[in-house]
Amino acid sequence: MSDKVHQGHRARKRFGQNFLNDPYVIDGIVAAINPLSGENLVEIGPGLGALTEPVTEQVDHLNVVELDRDLAARLRSHPFMGPKLTVHEADAMAFDFAELANQGPLRIFGNLPYNVSTPLMFHLFSFADHVQDMHFMLQKEVVKRLAAGPGTKAYGRLTVMAQYYCKVVPVLEVPPSAFKPAPKVDSAVVRLVPHKTLPHPVTNLSWLERVCREGFNQRRKTIRNGFKSLVDVDTLTELGIDPSLRPENMTLAQFSSLANWLDANHS
Ligand code: SAM
Repeated sequence: MSDKVHQGHRARKRFGQNFLNDPYVIDGIVAAINPLSGENLVEIGPGLGALTEPVTEQVDHLNVVELDRDLAARLRSHPFMGPKLTVHEADAMAFDFAELANQGPLRIFGNLPYNVSTPLMFHLFSFADHVQDMHFMLQKEVVKRLAAGPGTKAYGRLTVMAQYYCKVVPVLEVPPSAFKPAPKVDSAVVRLVPHKTLPHPVTNLSWLERVCREGFNQRRKTIRNGFKSLVDVDTLTELGIDPSLRPENMTLAQFSSLANWLDANHS
């Protein structure tokens, strides 16, 4: 049988379909999630049910969001999982997760399609208020970026925005051999726990997004030059930001205080 056909389904590359196929890895992820009956679990991209099946054994009900029509139909009619599932045949990047939060704080998990994982996470951060925690399988490089500290190569826009909303905890590394078909990259599981109180809140999120975008688009410029059109050197110094460093050296607290200064001083 072709490597791309798994349980009678031909993996669709455009949907980032790499199905988990290693019972130890699956057990490890489910143990990390620790689903409990009565909790409001939501899976993104359940696929053929590698994670869905063990999770439905532990909970009464599970919402799943799956874009592939064939897989959504398979899950709905599955003899054991089907009755416990509400299958939303939808694009998770446009899905209103707040709609599911009336059943309690969301515990979202998934082995995410790698081709859309970054925009999908940005979409999910906007629902952070409704979320208890999230567990995702991602490309290992993306987990490194989520967990990175200032001054490292992996530190960037995704890091700052993720850490603005969430505590980031890498959980498990996973080799390509755990999937069918095997992806070309290493993978890792990460836990994201939204802060109950934001440690460095901003008055206007669009300024934080803008300083991140501008700062990390020109990583080699100094802070002074990178933000020249927005803020002068004296103000940067007053905010405790060394203008001679690079934006990648700025902490989340510094990005937030710059965003707040801009919100107060620019129309
Ligand atoms: N959870 C399964 C597993 O671990 O074996 C499948 C994981 S596979 C990497 C990604 C899954 O996400 C596929 O089932 C794919 O069809 C689905 N998917 C891809 N893009 C999606 C999107 N935008 N919204 C929802 N599901 C999507």
